[in-house]
Amino acid sequence: MAWVDPETFALSLNYLIGLLVFFFLIVVPVLLALVVTLKWLRWNAARKRADRQARMERVQDDGTPYPPTGRGLCDSCQNGFDKVYYLCSGQRLCPSCYETLHGAAAAAKDAPGEGTHIGLPSSSSPQEK
Ligand SMILES: [Zn+2]
Repeated sequence: MAWVDPETFALSLNYLIGLLVFFFLIVVPVLLALVVTLKWLRWNAARKRADRQARMERVQDDGTPYPPTGRGLCDSCQNGFDKVYYLCSGQRLCPSCYETLHGAAAAAKDAPGEGTHIGLPSSSSPQEK
């Protein structure tokens, strides 16, 4: 059995205790705080994404809410759907028929020439030669 100097042993034991105290008082809390912060950031981003998606399902592009929905038959294409819009006029439309009719109505409502056309930069950009 190897002989151990008691003074060296006590010194290295002190270093070991100091290392353990440092680890459990500083390194572990910092790592825990880092993990909690990262998880909170991810949760917050997922919550915002879900809120935006839920809002997009409730509100149309022009800001007006969608009509109430339910199961039923579409009056336009005569098919059964899990989600059918019940319009104020009593008409029932599936989402695709609603989008086509509503899109056509919205396009007809916009006066030609002053629509929501987004002006793209013309082809004569300075990078072209
Ligand atoms: Zn339909």
